[in-house]
Amino acid sequence: MQRSSEPNQGLRASSSEAVGAPLEASARVVFLGGVGEVGRNMACVELSGRILIVDVGLSFPHAEMPGVDLVLPDFEYVRERMDDVEAVVLTHGHEDHIGSLPYLLRETERQLPVYGTPFTLALLERKLEEHEVRDRAELRQVTPGEAATAGPFSMRFLRVTHSIPDGMAVVIDTPFGSILHTGDFKIDQTPLDGRPTDLHALAEEAGRGVHLLLSDSTNSEEAGYTSSERSVGPVLQDIIARAPQLVVVACFSSHIHRIQQVVNAARADERVVAFLGRSMHQSVDAARELGLLHAPEQDVILIEQLDEFDPSRVVVISTGSQGEPLSALSLMAAREHKWVKLREGDTVVLSSSLIPGNEPAIHRVIDGLYRTGADVFHLPAYPVHASGHAAVEELRLMLSLVRPRWFVPIHGERRQLAHHAKIATEVGIPADHVLICEDGDVVEVGEKVQLAGRVPAGMTFVDGLGIGDVGQVVLRDRRKLSSEGVVVVVIAIDAHHGQLVAGPDIVNRGFVFDEAWGDILEEARERVMLSLRESAEAEVVDRGVLEQNVRRALAKYFYDVTQRKPVILPVILEV
Ligand SMILES: [Zn+2]
Ligand SMILES: [Zn+2]
Repeated sequence: MQRSSEPNQGLRASSSEAVGAPLEASARVVFLGGVGEVGRNMACVELSGRILIVDVGLSFPHAEMPGVDLVLPDFEYVRERMDDVEAVVLTHGHEDHIGSLPYLLRETERQLPVYGTPFTLALLERKLEEHEVRDRAELRQVTPGEAATAGPFSMRFLRVTHSIPDGMAVVIDTPFGSILHTGDFKIDQTPLDGRPTDLHALAEEAGRGVHLLLSDSTNSEEAGYTSSERSVGPVLQDIIARAPQLVVVACFSSHIHRIQQVVNAARADERVVAFLGRSMHQSVDAARELGLLHAPEQDVILIEQLDEFDPSRVVVISTGSQGEPLSALSLMAAREHKWVKLREGDTVVLSSSLIPGNEPAIHRVIDGLYRTGADVFHLPAYPVHASGHAAVEELRLMLSLVRPRWFVPIHGERRQLAHHAKIATEVGIPADHVLICEDGDVVEVGEKVQLAGRVPAGMTFVDGLGIGDVGQVVLRDRRKLSSEGVVVVVIAIDAHHGQLVAGPDIVNRGFVFDEAWGDILEEARERVMLSLRESAEAEVVDRGVLEQNVRRALAKYFYDVTQRKPVILPVILEV
């Protein structure tokens, strides 16, 4: 099994050549995100010097990225070759597959063709309008089962089932056979919309010859089969039927089939539904327009009307299942929601998975919900959710059905990729035909498929509404500020003689509690005076050096007595 880390250092060092245009006959796949991590999926498939981008997703920050709102893929590689980009293909409408496209479009003047299914494009369109880049995308709607050609790329689209309607796999022809990108999928034989993953089409592709399979690894550690989406319906129905008062169900806004099951369960119990949350409304509106969600008008009320109804006749369908700080559900848990005031005996269902990394936030919200006196239903105690990703047996089925000559597991952290690679070798793919890649890896697709260098694939952090990259330095400061606090030292010196006129005044935020640690701050003041005296003796007049000396003296002292390293900001005023 080839690995992309150390053994390829040589390749990486001499990669500049490899990273230019690929050899005439061969194709390439360049992974810019989603390989070795969960989120911000983006891959470039290249043929005859042209680029087809598959997915442009984003990911959400984890706890070590304070103040960061979004994480985008590194666009540097594509930025330099924007004119070579033939088109973008989106496998489905989840944020980790479409979320960064508006940011990519902001960087180009040209109009990019974007292929996707109706629901994917409906979600994308709303996003592009928000970012005011709608005119930079030429949306090309496709239906699974269809084929399309863009420049040198012949593509076929295959239906796959996932936790959002209208997902698809993409097949791209190369001179050596096809590259099959599964997108996110599960093999659900009884999906709610009656449109299962198209096994027949996959078998046909196998017949044509799949050279390289790129397949979703999310659930490669989960044994057996992922349960059918349909299994969740009766559980929800039971909970709602038994609920004595108001019911709130939180789920992903794009999970239209889940929302459909909640609507069905509500109607069965003669309840009306109210949708709550901005993304919920956007997604539900798009799905209803396309006929993907059936919620009769007379069964839907506005959240503002909640007071007018008997709570035992209402189900609120809300966002916030991941514990997002300002989401509707978090506000309910904090008893701060404008419309939904939870009371003892109400019922709350978190009909979603716990995305790794979000657990502390979700648990905090769940605790808050319990405190309101509500009855709370969530995984793993209640089967109120079914995953949208294939488990081990389904991954085996995909591999056995497609019979690729080469295999690269995608969409997963390293350990998930490693598990998926093992599954591939178990079903008979030779270990040396399985490559574990990481973001930034360039894979050459010739007769042989092999690693052929690296391109930049760092993280781009987006802060608030800003476009800019926050950068590692700012992040490091924020981490330090949030964990260690800050100490500001204000000193006024005579501009001519360099003598201390006032201060030092020491102000701290988040470092030590003044009352209890008054001694430390008093001693710190002494240390600053000492440092200034020493500087004076050494005839130091440069303000930068004075500040540096003060900072050093305090850093050492604070560390000695507290084992902590607050950010120290000396402010020297010349008066
Ligand atoms: Zn997905
Ligand atoms: Zn995904």
